[in-house]
Amino acid sequence: MDSELNILTQSVLKFRDDRNWAQYHNLKDLAVCLNIEAGELLELFLWKNSEEVNKAKLKEELADVFYATLLLAHESGIDLSLALTEKLKSNEIKYPIEKSYGKREKYDEI
Ligand SMILES: [Mg+2]
Repeated sequence: MDSELNILTQSVLKFRDDRNWAQYHNLKDLAVCLNIEAGELLELFLWKNSEEVNKAKLKEELADVFYATLLLAHESGIDLSLALTEKLKSNEIKYPIEKSYGKREKYDEI
């Protein structure tokens, strides 16, 4: 059974492979790509408050970040669904509700 994430990953891989770009998709360059796209997203907020951000551009940059994330996860053999599930479990331990509810401090400060 294909999950939505697997279907999206297959679409991203087809887009890439139709253009013969896999040759450039080593882990280092995918990590660089992911961070550049995250930077482009962050740039949308520069000198603006949250209400002023262009939502159409935000949508595009989020998609770029997601695209790079799916490729990096695929190329590194990481099951992104499992990774997120495990990270949430880890964060539940780091941030127990009774200690972190309504607080913004980092786990080692609560
Ligand atoms: Mg972009």
